Amino acid sequence: MDTTLEHDGFIVTSVDSLLQSARTGSLWYMSFGLACCAIEMMHAASSRYDMDRLGMMPRPSPRHSDLMIVAGTLTNKMATAMRRVYDQMPEPRYVISMGSCANGGGYYHYSYSVVRGCDRIVPVDVYVPGCPPTAEALLYGLIQLQRKIQGPRSGRAPNELAR
Ligand code: SF4
Repeated sequence: MDTTLEHDGFIVTSVDSLLQSARTGSLWYMSFGLACCAIEMMHAASSRYDMDRLGMMPRPSPRHSDLMIVAGTLTNKMATAMRRVYDQMPEPRYVISMGSCANGGGYYHYSYSVVRGCDRIVPVDVYVPGCPPTAEALLYGLIQLQRKIQGPRSGRAPNELAR
């Protein structure tokens, strides 16, 4: 977006830039708190880190949500429900995999009942490592997702755009 408003009294932009700006500034998330990682997700949402200030607010319905944060251990039993919730989210939709369990099964990788990574069920945009990842790590992941949505013009190197 051209910022000549102060000097010349006008702004030149594109509809695409406006849409990307609106998307990145209003990532309403369908939280998927499955286990202990969800506590850190709540921590990121509460007053110290305050995800609301980035336009990120929890929504109780997948039909209102742009983003799913998979926070915790995904079991085989829960996988069907998670996919159903994902399918009910409107496009464009994004997924953050939070923590070792969601990323690859974590401590329960060899358990008979645990999915070895939520990316076997839904496509993941950003992986946040850790057990649990700190609230700061989740925030960093959210900012990376915003930059990914903004695309190449956000000033990042092209390899940062790879999934
Ligand atoms: S990654 Fe660690 S903190 Fe997160 S759900 Fe798994 S065991 Fe719990």
